[in-house]
Amino acid sequence: MATDLSPLPLLIDGKSIPASDGSSRPIINPANGATIANVSDATASDVDAAVTAAHSAFVNGWGKTKVGDRATLLRALAAKIRENQEELALLETQSTGKPIGSSRGEVGYAAKVYEYYAGIASSAGGETVPLSANGIGLTFREPIGVCGLIVPWNFPIVIMAWKLAPCLAMGNTAIVKPAELTPLTALRVGELALEVGFPAGVLNVLPGAGPVAGKALSTHPRVRKISFTGSTATGSAIMSACAGDIKRVSLELGGKSPSVVFADADIEKAAASVMSIYDNTGQDCCGRSRYLVERSIYSEFIDRFVANSKAVRIGDPMASDTEIGPLASSVQWNRVDGYVKQGVAEGAKLCTGGKKPSNESFAAGCYYEPTVFADVTPGMAIAQKEIFGPVVAVIPFDSETEAVEIANGTPYGLSASVWTRDGGRALRMVRAIESGVISVNSSSSVHLEMPFGGFKQSGIGRELGPTALDLFSEVKSVFFSAE
Ligand code: NAD
Repeated sequence: MATDLSPLPLLIDGKSIPASDGSSRPIINPANGATIANVSDATASDVDAAVTAAHSAFVNGWGKTKVGDRATLLRALAAKIRENQEELALLETQSTGKPIGSSRGEVGYAAKVYEYYAGIASSAGGETVPLSANGIGLTFREPIGVCGLIVPWNFPIVIMAWKLAPCLAMGNTAIVKPAELTPLTALRVGELALEVGFPAGVLNVLPGAGPVAGKALSTHPRVRKISFTGSTATGSAIMSACAGDIKRVSLELGGKSPSVVFADADIEKAAASVMSIYDNTGQDCCGRSRYLVERSIYSEFIDRFVANSKAVRIGDPMASDTEIGPLASSVQWNRVDGYVKQGVAEGAKLCTGGKKPSNESFAAGCYYEPTVFADVTPGMAIAQKEIFGPVVAVIPFDSETEAVEIANGTPYGLSASVWTRDGGRALRMVRAIESGVISVNSSSSVHLEMPFGGFKQSGIGRELGPTALDLFSEVKSVFFSAE
C-alpha cells in the first residue's frame, strides 16, 4: 500500500473499477503527513451504476434468500475479518491516527457485530393477532430494498458494521459510502464479502466526496433508505434530500455530552474518567465534552481532572503504550484549535493543553494535547459546539435543578453520565436528562445489545440491539380471512 500509489478502485457489482472520470484522492496518515494510498473518487454516474447493480441483486435474489443463508454469509464475513485483523487494523490506524491497539479491538468488535445480527435476524419474526373468529392478523418484516450507508471517519469499520450487518441480515442490498479520509477498510471488507460468497451487487463500496457521491446517493430515486452517521449539519442536508421521495432515513449525529458530578460521588473515580473525552482523541460523538461539577467540590475536581489529563500518553499510534494519537486531519486540527482560541477569548480558564505538544517527534502530525477549560459558562461556544477533539469544558452548578438545566441546554442529546451515591437522585437525573444513552457512575455509552441513538438534534432512530432491525425493514400487516 505504501509503495504502490495507483488509485484503488471502487467496488460495483462485484467488480473493481476506476471512477468514471478517472479521479482519485490521496489518503493521508495524520501521524506524519505521508500519503499511504490513492483511492478512486466516485462520480454521480458511478453511484447510478452501483444503484442499478444493487437493485438488480435485490430483485433477482438477495431479497428472497432464506434468512438462514444470509446469516451463514454474515458469520463467514465475521470469520474473514478476524483472519485479516492485523491488516485491517493497520489500514485503520494509518488513515485515522488511532492507536493500533484500539484498531485491533475495533476490528474484532466489527466481526462481533456481523455475528450478532446473523443471530438475531434469524429469530426476528412477525406477530399473529387473533382479530376475530373470521380471520387472523399477521405481520411480516419485509426488506426495504437498496440502502445507502453513509459512514464517518472516526470509527470507520465499526460504524460500517453497525449499518451493514442489520441491513444485509434483513435482506436489503447496500451501497456503502465511506468518508473521504478513511475508505480503506470499507473497500477491504467489500473484497472479503465477495471472497466468502456474497453475490455480486449485494454490497457495493463507493468512496467519494460527500457533496458528490453522498448527495447522489441520497437523491437517487431507486435508493429506498439512507442510514447516516456524521455531523448534524450534514444530517440535516441529507434529511432534506430524502424528503423528495420520502426515503426512509436514520441519523446518528453530533453530541455535546454532559458528565454530571455531584458532591456525594466517588470523586476520585469520576475524576479518573478522563478517557471519556480523550479516547479516539475526542473524535467521538459520545465524548463527555462537558463536565458539570457541584460547586462544593469544583476546585478539588479540577485539580484531580487536570492531573489525570496530563498523565494521558499521547504518541505514535503504532506504539503499544500510546493512549491517544493525532487528530484525523489537519482540517480537524484547525477546527479544534479554533474552538480553543474562542474559549480563551470568551474568558474561560485554560488549565492545561490548548496546543500541539512541543516535542519534535510530533511536528509533522496532527497532534493536540488533552485540554481542560475551567470557569466555563453554559453559553460559551466551547460549552455549546461539538468540538470533536480532546477538549473538555468544566462547568460549576449549585443544585440538581440547575444541573438538569445545563445538561439539557444544548441542541444535542446523545450520551450522558451521572456520578452520585444517592440512588434516588441518580434515577431522577436519568429521567430528567434528554439523552438517548445515559450511564450512572460510569462513562460507558455503547453496548452491542442495547439501542443507541440520540434525542433532539443528535439524530433519529436507534442503531445496535434489536431496534436496528426496525431501521432496515418494513412491517406489513396482513388480514387472513377464515371464511
Ligand atoms: P460530515 O458529517 O460532513 O461527514 C460524514 C459523512 O457524510 C462522510 O462520509 C461525508 O462524505 C458524507 N457527506 C458529507 N456531505 C454530504 C452530503 N451533502 N450528502 C451526503 N453525504 C455527505 O463530517 P465532516 O465534515 O467530516 O466532519 C465535520 C464535523 O462533523 C466534525 O468536526 C464533527 O463535529 C462531526 N462529526 C460527527 C461524527 C459523529 O459520529 N457524530 C462523525 C464525523 C464527524
